[in-house]
Amino acid sequence: MSNNELQTICIRCPIGCHLTVKRENGEIVVSGNNCPRGAEYGKQEFTNPMRTITAVYKLKNGGTICVRTNKAVEKVKYFEILREIHSAPEPKNPKYGDTFISNVYNTGADVIITAVNKDED
Ligand code: SF4
Repeated sequence: MSNNELQTICIRCPIGCHLTVKRENGEIVVSGNNCPRGAEYGKQEFTNPMRTITAVYKLKNGGTICVRTNKAVEKVKYFEILREIHSAPEPKNPKYGDTFISNVYNTGADVIITAVNKDED
């Protein structure tokens, strides 16, 4: 496998088709997909993979909050987004569903709180 070929599994439905994505004569060609959604997924993975990012943020009292982006963001921005999450100011009275960071790393995605684990000691 080279940089011009990718083997991946489509995650758009539970079938999980095994995809091969190649660049041939300047075109991106996907095979192994059972439907057009797999072709779309394969092309996205090949050119600009997207991921929902999750993280655990430590609170000063010893508790933690779990956060995630509210939509998939470019995978290449993963470390910058994590850095922004971990350097964000601690929220006062964090609650499930609150927006923790708006437009994180200028991606258009918000980081939302999905769980609050307070250390009551
Ligand atoms: S290619 Fe279509 S059928 Fe196959 S896993 Fe993706 S969405 Fe499902």
